Amino acid sequence: MPVVSIAREGNVAVVTIDNPPVNALSQAVRQGLLDAVTALDADPAVVAVVLQCAGRTFVAGADVSEFGKPPQEPHLPDVVSAIENTARPWIAAIHGSALGGGFELALACRFRLALADASVGLPEVTLGIVPGAGGTVRTIRLAGVEAAVDLVTTGKPVRAGRALELGLIDEVVDADLLEAAVALAKDLPNRTLPEPLPQRPAPVADDAFWTDAEARITKRARGEIAPLRALACLRRATESDFVTAMTFERATFLELRAGPQASALRHVFFAERAAPKPAALSGVPALPLRTAAVIGGGTMGAGIAAALRDAGLPVILIERDEAAVARGIANLSDIFAGAVKRGRLTDAAAEARIAGVAGSTDYAALADVDLVIEAVFEDLAVKRDVFAKLGRICRTDAILATNTSYLDPREIAEGLANPARFIGLHFFSPANVMKLLEIVPTPETGDATLASAFALARMLGKIPVRSGICEGFIGNRILKRYRAEAEALVRQGHAIASIDAAMRHYGFAMGPFEAQDLGGLDIAFLQREGARAAGRNVPETLGDTLVRAGRKGQKSGGGWYDYNVGDRRPLPSDEVARLLCLDPATAVEADLGSIADRLVGAMADEGATILSEGIAEKSSDIDLVEIHGYGFPRWRGGPMFQAASDH
Ligand code: NAD
Repeated sequence: MPVVSIAREGNVAVVTIDNPPVNALSQAVRQGLLDAVTALDADPAVVAVVLQCAGRTFVAGADVSEFGKPPQEPHLPDVVSAIENTARPWIAAIHGSALGGGFELALACRFRLALADASVGLPEVTLGIVPGAGGTVRTIRLAGVEAAVDLVTTGKPVRAGRALELGLIDEVVDADLLEAAVALAKDLPNRTLPEPLPQRPAPVADDAFWTDAEARITKRARGEIAPLRALACLRRATESDFVTAMTFERATFLELRAGPQASALRHVFFAERAAPKPAALSGVPALPLRTAAVIGGGTMGAGIAAALRDAGLPVILIERDEAAVARGIANLSDIFAGAVKRGRLTDAAAEARIAGVAGSTDYAALADVDLVIEAVFEDLAVKRDVFAKLGRICRTDAILATNTSYLDPREIAEGLANPARFIGLHFFSPANVMKLLEIVPTPETGDATLASAFALARMLGKIPVRSGICEGFIGNRILKRYRAEAEALVRQGHAIASIDAAMRHYGFAMGPFEAQDLGGLDIAFLQREGARAAGRNVPETLGDTLVRAGRKGQKSGGGWYDYNVGDRRPLPSDEVARLLCLDPATAVEADLGSIADRLVGAMADEGATILSEGIAEKSSDIDLVEIHGYGFPRWRGGPMFQAASDH
C-alpha cells in the first residue's frame, strides 16, 4: 500500500495519507503528496481535492526518525506551497490531531473541516524550533496577531471549537467527516472561494504590542530561545511580504534545528518516549490495577490519592484515627478545590473525585484491593508495622508499595510473606502534579510487580525512572551533592544571592538556597540528625547551623535569607552572615556562568557515579529525574546531557 493514495468520488479526488501510527510527514509522504498534486492538476475531470488521513489521526507531526538529520527532499515548504498553488482547491478533513507540519499542511488547503474532538496546533517550540513550513506566516493571517502569538509561542494545541472561533478552521463536523468534505467539494462551484492566504493582508500590531509580548515571553521562557524566535517570525510576518516572511521563518527553523537547545529537547523527547516502556520488561504482563489504597493522608498520601483519583481509580484512604481520616479527606478536598479554582476541574468533577475516596481506620477494608501505596511517617518501625498488617490482610497478589524517601526498602519489606509483590514507588511533592516517579525494586521484587509499577506510571501520566537502592535513590542523592557543592561555594566566599542568581540565570525557577527556604531546611536537618544519632559520621552543614539557630526557612521567618512579613522576596541576612562567619564585603567575584557550570558539573559527576554503580540504568534516566523532579531546565537536556556535550 502506498503511503499516499488517490481515490475518486465523482469529480472529487480523495487523497489519503496512510502512514501508521500517526501519519507522520516522512519523506515518502511528502513525495506522495507532491506526486498527487502533479497528477491531479493534470486531470481536467477533477474539480476539487479532499485531503484526509487513515487511522486514528490526521498528520500529527514530523517523522521523529528524521529528527536531527539533514532535511531530505522534497522539503515540506515546497509540498505545502504546491498544494496552496494547485489549480484545484484542496480541502483538509481533520480528525485526531493536526500538529506541527500536519497543521501546516492543512493551512495550505483552501478549506479546513474538523471533527469536534479534533485538535490543531504548532508545538514546534517544545522541540526548540519554530514552524518551518509557513506555520507562523499563515496562522497570523487566519487568526490575527494575539491568537497567533499565543498559539505559536506556547506550542499548545487548541480544540476544533476554539480553532473555529479563531478562524483556523472553517467548519466543525459532527457526523461523517469524509462525507461532509466531499459534499463541500461538490458544492464549491456554487461558492466564492476564499482568497489564498498569500494574497490576504497580514494583520498589524504596534511596537508596544511586540515589546510587551517579548517581555512576557522572555520571563516565561527563562533562557529558552525558541518562543522568542517564534515571536520574531510572527512579527516579520506582519511587517514584510509573504515570501520574505516565509524565507525568514525557514531560515530561523534551520538555524534552531541545528542548535544546542533543539538537540537537548530532542534528547529529552526521546528519553521521555522510552521511559514508560523499558525494553527489559517487554512481554512481562502487568497485573490489573482497578482499585487502590493509600496509607497515610498527609502531604504525600493525599497527593498520591489525588493522582490515583485523577486516573479514575477508586481509593481507600487509611489513617491512624478518625480525626486523621478527616484531615486526610480535607487535604484531598483542598487539592481538588485548588484544581477547580485554577479552572482544571469542574465542581461536579471535583465532587466525583472526592466521592470515589473511602476514608477508614480499618485495614480490613483492604482485603480486596489491587494496589496499596504506603505514605506514613518516615520511620522504619512505623512502616514495618503497616506492612505486617498489609501482609496479613491484602490478597497475596496485591502490590504493596512504599513511598519512602530515604529508608532502605529491603528493610521495610523484611518479614513480608511474598516479598515479590513489594516495591518502592517514590512520588514527588505535590504528587498529583509532579511528573517523576522513581520506581525502586528490591532484589526480591517480581517482574510482574515491576511491570505493574510501570503500568501504573502510564495510567497516572507519570515519567517513570527505575532506581537501584542507595541513600536518596537517584534524585535526592544528586540533590544532596548539589547542595553540598553550593555550600562549598559559600565557604569559598561566594555570596549566597549570587549562587541563587546563577542557577536562575541557568534556567531553574529558583536557586538552591531559595528553594530550601521555600521547602524548609528542617527536613534534611532532621534526617542528618537521625543518621548522627544512629552513630554515622555526618559532617555539620551550614544548613544545620542555621536550623540550630531557629532558621528553618520561610515558615520560621527566615532561613538562608530574611523575609519581611507577608513577602516572599529573599533579603540578604546579616544574621546568616554572622552565624556562618561570612564577610559580604569580601565576597568572591565570579561570573554566573562559571558558578552554574560548577554546580551542574557536580550533579553530573554524582550522576556518573550513580551510573557506574548501576543505580541508574541509563544516563538519560538521570536527566529525566532532574528535569521532572528537580526543575532542571528542560531545554538544557539535563546534567548528563550537558556533561556529554561539553566534551
Ligand atoms: P506527613 O507527615 O505529611 O504524613 C504522614 C501521614 O501518615 C500522617 O497524616 C499520619 O497521620 C499518617 N500515619 C502515620 N502513621 C500511620 C499509620 N500507622 N497508619 C496510617 N497512617 C499513618 O508526611 P509526608 O510528607 O506525606 O511523607 C510521607 C512519606 O512520604 C514519608 O515516607 C516521606 O519520606 C515520603 N516522601 C515525602 C516527600 C515530601 O516531599 N514530603 C516526598 C517523597 C516521599
